[in-house]
Amino acid sequence: MTEQTTIQHPYILKVALDVPLDGVFDYRSDTPLQAGQRVLVPFGPRKQVGIVVGTASESDIAPARLKSIIRHFDQEPALDAEFFSLLKFCADYYQYPYGQALLAALPARLRQTEPAQARQQFCYWLNAVGLAAGLDMLPARQVVQRRIFSALLEHGRLREADLAELSPGWRKGLAALSELGWIEQEQVYAGLRSILHASSVQPELNAEQSYAVQSVLQQRNEFRPWLLHGITGSGKTEVYMCLLQAILAGNEDQALVLVPEINLTPQLEARFRSRLPEYSLVTLHSNLSESERLQNWRLAQTGAARIVIGTRLSVFAPMPRLKCIIVDEEHDTSYKQQDSMRYHARDVALVRAQRRNIPIVLGSATPALETWHNAQVGRYGLLSLQQRAVSQSQLPQVKCVDVSKVQMQDGLSLPLVKALKTRLERGEQSLLFINRRGYAPVLLCNACHWIAPCMRCSSRLVVHLRQGCLRCHHCGHEQKIVRQCPSCGNPDLHPTGHGTQRLEEVLVKLLPEARILRVDRDSTRRKNALDHMLAAVHAGEVDILIGTQMLAKGHDFPNLTLVGVLDTDSALFSPDFRATERLFAQLMQVAGRAGRADKAGEVLIQTTLPEHHLFNALRGQDYAAYASGILQEREIAQFPPYEFLALVRAEANDYAPVQGFLQFAAEAAREMGSAALVYDPVRPQMERLKGMERGQLLMQASSRQVLQQLLRQLTPQMRAHPLSNRVRWNVDVDPQEF
Ligand code: ADP
Ligand code: ZN
Ligand code: ZN
Repeated sequence: MTEQTTIQHPYILKVALDVPLDGVFDYRSDTPLQAGQRVLVPFGPRKQVGIVVGTASESDIAPARLKSIIRHFDQEPALDAEFFSLLKFCADYYQYPYGQALLAALPARLRQTEPAQARQQFCYWLNAVGLAAGLDMLPARQVVQRRIFSALLEHGRLREADLAELSPGWRKGLAALSELGWIEQEQVYAGLRSILHASSVQPELNAEQSYAVQSVLQQRNEFRPWLLHGITGSGKTEVYMCLLQAILAGNEDQALVLVPEINLTPQLEARFRSRLPEYSLVTLHSNLSESERLQNWRLAQTGAARIVIGTRLSVFAPMPRLKCIIVDEEHDTSYKQQDSMRYHARDVALVRAQRRNIPIVLGSATPALETWHNAQVGRYGLLSLQQRAVSQSQLPQVKCVDVSKVQMQDGLSLPLVKALKTRLERGEQSLLFINRRGYAPVLLCNACHWIAPCMRCSSRLVVHLRQGCLRCHHCGHEQKIVRQCPSCGNPDLHPTGHGTQRLEEVLVKLLPEARILRVDRDSTRRKNALDHMLAAVHAGEVDILIGTQMLAKGHDFPNLTLVGVLDTDSALFSPDFRATERLFAQLMQVAGRAGRADKAGEVLIQTTLPEHHLFNALRGQDYAAYASGILQEREIAQFPPYEFLALVRAEANDYAPVQGFLQFAAEAAREMGSAALVYDPVRPQMERLKGMERGQLLMQASSRQVLQQLLRQLTPQMRAHPLSNRVRWNVDVDPQEF
């Protein structure tokens, strides 16, 4: 019987599917398929796209119940072994179903049930007739046609992307030239090289930059992580480009450059294209259309793209000849995926580099403390760029405005308003920086600055007015709200934290003549909105910019001489131990915006803690001093990077099942006899979100291995628990936010 089946259906496939279940599924196929191919299979009542992860000669499933695949998608390059092993690693490490991890790493087009054709690219040139013709044969008003014609004359062949750069109306213009019988075309696969960009002149590297490039090159054939530490403008990007120049020259190798924000890719892309015009370059990010994304992904996969610049997800892009990874702004929180598989792209990049035995460069002005720590203990090589590459006026002056001592109006202090007025009179620009994160109220004494601390953790208690209690979000400790300051006796304690919602209105009232522009995620949601806004700032059409962190990075406004930072206390007082680290990174970046050209800049920071060591470090732009201080705190408090954390989050319409589920998880974890510390389940800062009651369970260990061992046992038990279907839950390994 079995034998007969085997003869009839000799191929049994192990197929990974996008389903929240562990393991892979057996299907049979009439044709032999290899691992890495996509198939369409029946799953329950539906059809699903799956990936063949392997083949087998027999199956545990009874032959009569073994289903056949519906079809396979041929004419597609198969996914390579590295793709599988990297995602297997991630699925295990981040406690996420393997099949879902695999499918989520594909471009959306490859998850659809139709065959996916990458869009075909063509290139064009003038044939003999066209060459014999002249520009004067085209009427002067046919601007686009004339432009295309001239460019073709000059460059010979042009790709669609080049033409698109010439003019948005290029398709019509080209069609008109084609109709004249002047144009030939050919499909291109690897001709992604842009020939329009004149290669920009490479500045001579300074000693620190050369040392950085040489150091990496000396160990270019082995796994070696490097931290490239230097403030904005210190020349990190030049180092990346020189490094890639050396690594890619004379071979067919590939390099991956990870960037945190879509908004930053166009700038970086333009610089790389003009400096490295001989290498085909593609980008991978969510602003691309699905077909562009698939096409670029394919070009990475086939090796045709030599440089890939991409955001988080591109860390999984198959690149058969990958020889170097760069992670720019490696500390950026957007590298951490906050749903589905909660991977950290920088960490995955490190794993990938290690497995491929290649160098990886992590660049930042304010490295993540984990990274800094690794560089300090010698696990990563440290490459410092101390000077600004281009001569720069003095560092901006950083001043704190003690908001407990000055007059305030809706979150704006008098000195700040005065400074804004001065800039307005001088025709200079100002930036008001809003730190949106961490609005959790704490109990603060305005007289002596005492903040209600947790007795069992080095964190602050969070005020829960509704329940009239103070609670620790790390260990669950709870106590009643005290009315009197235990430190100085002040009988008038208040929860702190004010909104910034009315800021724009208030500014309009205070400075009616000022032209104000608000730049945040909401106002820049539309495509190109940010570009238009930035152009307006450059054109001097804006006096005061109100912005969140997205403005802090990468944009250079020469006429901007004042940065006002409105709300630092919510971060300084946040129960999230990483909040001050993020604040410091933001302030370093935002301070770098002030007075970049020949004008001296000023940074005014509103705070109730003007003496905080964070501000001292900021004054000297001294990351190292700041980091060593905060690392000591972390070591004493036993927080990362000295300990490793995992968080189980759960939510449901009411709290009972959440509590039951987390309680079960906590008890199960404790019974495993692991060296890991298992806390009690607690309510997070946002107890209720979108109508869901939430809870979380923190686990902590001194090594990743201990934590991983615990999770490996615990996750299947949680999946099997009856309450697991009544709550929405996930495991967050190395969580970045609490
Ligand atoms: P970062 O990436 O650290 O912000 P960049 O590499 O963008 O710094 O450098 C900042 C500016 O200085 C750029 O305009 C760059 O072209 C220029 N630059 C960098 N290195 C040098 C150098 N060695 N000589 C002259 N200009 C340089
Ligand atoms: Zn007090
Ligand atoms: Zn506590």
